[in-house]
Amino acid sequence: MNVKLNDNVVVITGKYAGKKGKVIATSPKNSTVVVEGVNIRKKAKKARKANEVSKIVETEGPIDVSNVMVVCPSCDKAIRVKMNFEGKIKHRVCPKCGAVLDKAFAGKVKNAKKKEEAPKKRVRKRAKKEEAETVAEPANGNSEE
Ligand SMILES: [Zn+2]
Repeated sequence: MNVKLNDNVVVITGKYAGKKGKVIATSPKNSTVVVEGVNIRKKAKKARKANEVSKIVETEGPIDVSNVMVVCPSCDKAIRVKMNFEGKIKHRVCPKCGAVLDKAFAGKVKNAKKKEEAPKKRVRKRAKKEEAETVAEPANGNSEE
């Protein structure tokens, strides 16, 4: 699914066509999303505890993910999400303005860079040990005398 939690989407077909809202739940298994204010259903909620009152609650129902389009946060247009790769990191991009849609993306790139740097640190440690050994050698020589 190209639609993710907290995305802004616009409904393109059905009773709520044209309505914009935020994705508040996703179900990749059923390929459905729940959009704020879309597909309102009345649900009877029965009182389960002493201080509760039985009432009818209006909640959003799930709609098929193919009925919505992602709205780009920077150019505010309904878009077909484009997949891009930064190294091995997959991320979603707006095809119209090129904005990156995944907020976690910048953090993932940082983490990937850290991983790349990790082996270098090991090399540095080894180099330090070698230095320590070379320093230790004359000391050993002195103790043998
Ligand atoms: Zn855009």
